[in-house]
Formats: sequence, C-alpha cells, structure tokens
Amino acid sequence: MSIPSNLPPITQIGDRIVQIRLPMTGNPMRYINGYLLEDDDGLTLIDCGWKADDVLAALEEGLALCGHTVRDVRRLLITHFHFDHYGLAGTLIGAGVPELGMHERDWAFLRARRERRGDDDSIVNAWLERNGLPVQPEDDDDSWDRFDYVEPTRMVEDGEHIGRLRAMFTPGHSPGHLCFVDTVSGRTFTGDHVLDPVTPHVGMWHDASRDAMGEYVASLRTVGALETTGALPAHGEAFPDLARRVDELLAHEATRETDVLHALDDGPKTATEVAGALRWRRRGDRFDQLHPEHQQFAVAETLAHLEHLRRRNEVTRTDAPARITWARVLV
Ligand SMILES: [Zn+2]
Ligand SMILES: [Zn+2]
Repeated sequence: MSIPSNLPPITQIGDRIVQIRLPMTGNPMRYINGYLLEDDDGLTLIDCGWKADDVLAALEEGLALCGHTVRDVRRLLITHFHFDHYGLAGTLIGAGVPELGMHERDWAFLRARRERRGDDDSIVNAWLERNGLPVQPEDDDDSWDRFDYVEPTRMVEDGEHIGRLRAMFTPGHSPGHLCFVDTVSGRTFTGDHVLDPVTPHVGMWHDASRDAMGEYVASLRTVGALETTGALPAHGEAFPDLARRVDELLAHEATRETDVLHALDDGPKTATEVAGALRWRRRGDRFDQLHPEHQQFAVAETLAHLEHLRRRNEVTRTDAPARITWARVLV
C-alpha cells in the first residue's frame, strides 16, 4: 500500500530534518507531519500518526527514502496524546523503537482513560447534555480505536534537553502538550499548539478542574516570545513567522471571548445557547449549519471560554440538576 500520490512523501527541511506526510484517511485534515531528525546518537521521530496500515506504510516509505528503517529510530517523541499523533506508538515500540517520550500530564490522561475502559464517551455526552447539547449515540466515532495504550519510557519535562531538542511545556490544546525547539536550526516543532491557517481546538470536554483556555493563551505567549527561525507544525505547511501567527491566534481568542460575553448580554444561557449566538469556522457558519460532531467541538470550545471567564470573575455558573447555565457578572 502506498500513500496517496497527491502527498509528497517527504520534504527535506534542511539541517538534517525531514518531514514525512502521514495520511489521515477520511479526515479533512488529510495528513499529519511526522518529523525525522538526525542526532548524534541516532534518529528522533516527532509524532507518528494514528494506528493504521497506510500510516505505517507511509512512515516506512519515508524512512526508506532517507535510507533508514523503523529500527533506526532511536526515540519517538509525542507532542500530545491525540490519536493522530500517538496512535501508532505501540506499533513502533513493538517494532523495536527503544524510547518513547511524552509529558506526564498527557500520559496521566491516557492512563485514567484506560482504567475507565471506554466510559469516557458517556461522561462526555452527559457533560454536553447538561450544557444543553443533546448527543446522539451514533455520533460517536471510532477514533479511540486507532491507537494502543503504550507507556512512555520517559516523561518529558519543560526545558528538558533531549539530544538536539529542548522541550517546552505548552498546555492548552491538551493537558500536557509539548513543543520542541531545535537547538541546531532554531526551528520550533509546534505540534497542534500553533497551526496555520487552522485555529487549534481548545475545549472543555468534561467537568474539569483545568482552565484549558487560560493555559492555552499563556502557552501561546510563551511560544510567541521565542527567537525562532520558523515553525514546523503537525498539520499543514511549515511557516516562517511564528510570532505573527501567535499574535493572530491571541487576537482570535480575545475576539471570541468578547463574543461569548456579548452573547450573555440578554441574560443567562446554556453553553449551547451561547455557541448558537456565535459564528463558526472561517466561513462564519451558524451553529445549526454545523455537523453534529462539529457542534460538540463548538460547545466544548465555548465552555473553555466560559470557564476561563468564570475564573476571572466575569461569568458565573449555576448548576441545576439537568442544566448548567452561565451568566455575566454585572459591575
Ligand atoms: Zn491534537
Ligand atoms: Zn493533530
């Protein structure tokens, strides 16, 4: 099996970095970028795609074009636990890759999910329903099937040096998202933290004690302050000006926050009602034009904004048994 011919299998970035396109068949994102780096002690692969035969074939083909096989990969580093970044890790460890690194917070999330044995979907659905969005069970996808739970051999910490890379803890898109700065080329591997032109998703998918949006905005500022020679994102094309893109994303989140507050001007609402007052996607679609799965993402994102505003005392949350409503704090 080979990768779709409209994807160039590899791109030489320079400085002994190669980008390998790994297919996401059936997903509008189309592919994820794995990055292969030569280091003094062997090859490092950043992110590996989800668990599927066509992904493994694309990775093997990309490695072969560089004169390597999977066995030459010394370590696999995962920017975050999402299945399109981590799913194939178990296969690669099984094939002899000795080292797997990710952040402890993301591994803790996966470990907890493994212990709940798949009850997460019902937890998420109940949470969305309390926030006003009825969820049809057939909306559930099979994304969680496209990976194996495999324990990291190392927990990567903020500021840690791993070969030529320096890890940066950038929570928000996931609880333990990592970016990696290449100390050789000055480039930054941004994972899903900073994408262009896609706006990374930040959502509150259960009744968390986290302020995901607050963490995301703080992490954006950290990355925006980097001296860097360019961004290498997990989806889409490499882009040169990371600080510019960070500024755009910060401006976008600030605008969304203002829109969420305005949506509460005429009284308390559920998160779904707030989402219904906003425009979605770059086209500016209405909420009711979104596919049911995208409605879930929209409500989770709205909740992340509401929770962030609640922590800043601009919004209050009222829990009734069947409904959670949010209201502006009027001064
Ligand atoms: Zn992701
Ligand atoms: Zn992704």
